Amino acid sequence: MTTHLRHLTTLENLPRATIEHLLDRAIAMRDACAHGTRKLDLLTGRTVLNLFFEPSTRTRTSFELAARRLGADVVNFNIGVSSTTKGETLYDTLHTLEAMHLDAIVVRHKVDGTPDELVRNAMSGVSIVNAGDGHHAHPTQGLLDALTIRQHRPDFENLTVTICGDIRHSRVARSDVHALTALGVKAIRFCGPAGLLPDADEFPQVQCSEDFDAAIAGADVAIMLRLQKERMAATELPDEAAYFQHYGLDPRRLARADRGCLVMHPGPLNRGIEIADEVADGPQSRVLEQVANGVFVRMAVLGELLAR
Ligand code: ASP
Repeated sequence: MTTHLRHLTTLENLPRATIEHLLDRAIAMRDACAHGTRKLDLLTGRTVLNLFFEPSTRTRTSFELAARRLGADVVNFNIGVSSTTKGETLYDTLHTLEAMHLDAIVVRHKVDGTPDELVRNAMSGVSIVNAGDGHHAHPTQGLLDALTIRQHRPDFENLTVTICGDIRHSRVARSDVHALTALGVKAIRFCGPAGLLPDADEFPQVQCSEDFDAAIAGADVAIMLRLQKERMAATELPDEAAYFQHYGLDPRRLARADRGCLVMHPGPLNRGIEIADEVADGPQSRVLEQVANGVFVRMAVLGELLAR
């Protein structure tokens, strides 16, 4: 028995069964598409709106593909030419869009909590899907990361996962921890310079370290994160060459991890800053699998929220 979802704004506190159900559903979507079917009809007659207030390559495209592959109509709201640039509030934008009878709004915003605000203020039956809010949550990324790990290492209770980089400003790190904790991962380690680690009490279950050589030792999964420059003051920005020396994943460091360590990154990659070319393009890299899984996970989520 899993909880029925109307919206997806975070993975925090979702039961393991719900997360596993969404991952299973993503695999079913993948299998359905693998048989040559490019388009299913689960969401025929439904309309999904992409409302992105921050840049996106993978997430926006894959939500669009996911919705189309399920037979839904998709509208991409172009912020640059919309009335938000004329001073319209987010709520007026929401109610205007709702009046057009949308079934789902997929929203990305730089302010933490925006998707939950939309849930609280929506006047129709629209479903809200969080495509990343500030440094708060990126639930579909958490799911696709969990799916990518599960495809290689379903034995979560044996796994050590090291997440390295700008954790403090990362919504990906937060959603990954929520998913991986629910799935019973043995150990999660955060690594980064002191100023980019979260407050000590935010994730009591996670070990924090400033020493990447120690944090990667024996890891089964390494998730590398980009410096979220857009969420930092200029004075907080580390020197990139020094950062790579201490926190970049290069072949020498990867050799300290478990032999089969999966290398993951949500993208966009900043090569030579958090990851070396040889590792990003090497045999242990799962980066493009993550991208592929993103479409199936988003199909699963839209299917779950919208299918009648
Ligand atoms: N694409 C991810 C996000 O939107 C990671 C990143 O931008 O660094 O959070």
